[in-house]
Amino acid sequence: MTCIQFPSKVQSKIQFLVVFVSLISILTGISLAAHADVLGDVKKKGTLVVGVKDSLPPFGYVDEKSRDIVGYDIDMAKAVAKKLGVKLELKPVTSANRFPMLSEGNVDLVIATTTKNPERAAQVDFSHAYFLTGQKFIVAKGKVKTLQDLDTARIGTAKGSTSEKNVATSLPKAKVLSYDDYPQAVLALQQGKVQAVTTDEAILAGLLAKMPNKDKYEIPDLKISDEPYGIAIKKGEKGLVDVVNSTLLEMESSGDADKVFAQWFGPNSAAPLKRTFKITAEK
Ligand code: GLU
Repeated sequence: MTCIQFPSKVQSKIQFLVVFVSLISILTGISLAAHADVLGDVKKKGTLVVGVKDSLPPFGYVDEKSRDIVGYDIDMAKAVAKKLGVKLELKPVTSANRFPMLSEGNVDLVIATTTKNPERAAQVDFSHAYFLTGQKFIVAKGKVKTLQDLDTARIGTAKGSTSEKNVATSLPKAKVLSYDDYPQAVLALQQGKVQAVTTDEAILAGLLAKMPNKDKYEIPDLKISDEPYGIAIKKGEKGLVDVVNSTLLEMESSGDADKVFAQWFGPNSAAPLKRTFKITAEK
């Protein structure tokens, strides 16, 4: 075999080039691996990280005895982790930071009272709807009969929520005060800083049940929107969307979805509600 001999200067340049090119290919390989699908990553690390609310009973809140985060959304997260055969890690999120947490890869899923709507579906993918509620108000008893009674009111809600947007549309003259989360808005109501708190009825019912002077407040039958909840998944992660959707559909057909609903919203719960929906495959 003939070997071409380069002068030593050229040879060291070639060596440098070879090292450089292999380094680049290693780095690209690593970065490609880092962008592998979220489902694959979850299986590899053996843990599903889910963004949840931690102060919204009965969806996600800290249990006084166990200090664990529990609730309806947590049971949904547990079902997905079980289906995947991996451990579950819960990370508290707010209405405002849940989508950035997802797109930055800090959580694999968001199961946090999140309404699925076309505007948000441009940013993230959603599972089939797994809960249905609608936006209402908590107000002092007997004060509000029609929406007009809140026309110029000060109304508390949470930053980054659909509640914040809907109320601005329904009551354009009202002064909307957006807090980091709903419990702060409830505190503002008790302190007389706002006349109403607005968000989804199922959340309001849970918050009202925990208010120390709850007899003084009520949720009038004034619904300003429908809010179907979806599990949010980073855009383009079809594998994970499929697992989440099949988990939800299996929960419905096995009766587990009914059981979870009954546990958190049934007649013996703090804030009973009727199950007016079924989980179905959506297009
Ligand atoms: N479901 C509404 C939303 O997704 C209100 C509840 C919340 O802020 O999480 O914005």
